[in-house]
Amino acid sequence: MDAATSSNHSIELTNLTFIRIRSKMNFPNDDIAVSHNKRPIEWPIAVVIFLFQVIPIFIFFIEIPAWCWVVGFLFFVIRLSFVGICYHRYFSHRSFKTSRLFQFFMALGSVLSFQGGVLRWASMHRAHHKFSDTKKDLHSPIIYGFLESHILWVIRKYDFDDSNIKDLTRFPELVWLERLWMLPSLIVATLFFIIGGWPLLLVGFFLSTTILYHMTWSINSIDHIFGTTRFPTKDHSKNNFIFALLTLGEGWHNNHHYYPSSARNGFYWYEIDISFYIICVLKMLGIVWDVKNVPTYVLEKKEFKQIAGDMKSQ
Ligand SMILES: [Zn+2]
Ligand SMILES: [Zn+2]
Repeated sequence: MDAATSSNHSIELTNLTFIRIRSKMNFPNDDIAVSHNKRPIEWPIAVVIFLFQVIPIFIFFIEIPAWCWVVGFLFFVIRLSFVGICYHRYFSHRSFKTSRLFQFFMALGSVLSFQGGVLRWASMHRAHHKFSDTKKDLHSPIIYGFLESHILWVIRKYDFDDSNIKDLTRFPELVWLERLWMLPSLIVATLFFIIGGWPLLLVGFFLSTTILYHMTWSINSIDHIFGTTRFPTKDHSKNNFIFALLTLGEGWHNNHHYYPSSARNGFYWYEIDISFYIICVLKMLGIVWDVKNVPTYVLEKKEFKQIAGDMKSQ
């Protein structure tokens, strides 16, 4: 059964006390009262993010067995694919369909990246596309500078609005997970400590999560500054080959901003997009279906290539 059509439930996030939603902050507002870089710091989040930047330094002071590095790398890559495929291409853009059970599995995998619940992530990301590189964009390096767009926006107070994620809030299990999003990560961290002590906790959980953070944040910061422009989008999104490799395909960000509903970010055969290859395998296995691709009229628009060339030469 299709996850998008199987539920008749409707849960208003406003019923939940753990999320403060201000209806005044609806996304379609013409202006914002406070610039995003003036919003106050959310200190508990700031402390957590700070600890993730500092704690990995301790890997230089203890001996790390080789198998801990292997576990840390695998945990990093697996979660990186959950960020790209699930948080981003599925929950934020609904670029393919799947069962309700696999949808929940994807949500569980996503929150293991310790970046919050899928509802909040998707809401903020949809807002990014709507207001990209304007004052209302949460993390525009063009408007707010590199540091703000990379890390500071994460630690500021932000009461997200659920009006742009009604398609997701009707699933009670996703709303439930939104409340308990830290729990899966805390369980894994505890298991790592029991199995491998401090070395596995440091490398497998802390270091791999910190690198995962910076990979994710780089798409917001670096990929709106450095790279090439193929399509004439209204924002400064860029295609960045190096970050496309490092993030399993998310670096084809100008492509993505031009046609966000596609499950494919690398539009041409030579644009490596590992997340899309994984989606294709899931499709072959019958786990996902209705995978949205890039229409040929987009790929064949010769004038876009001409415009891209013009923009690069400026
Ligand atoms: Zn962007
Ligand atoms: Zn997107």
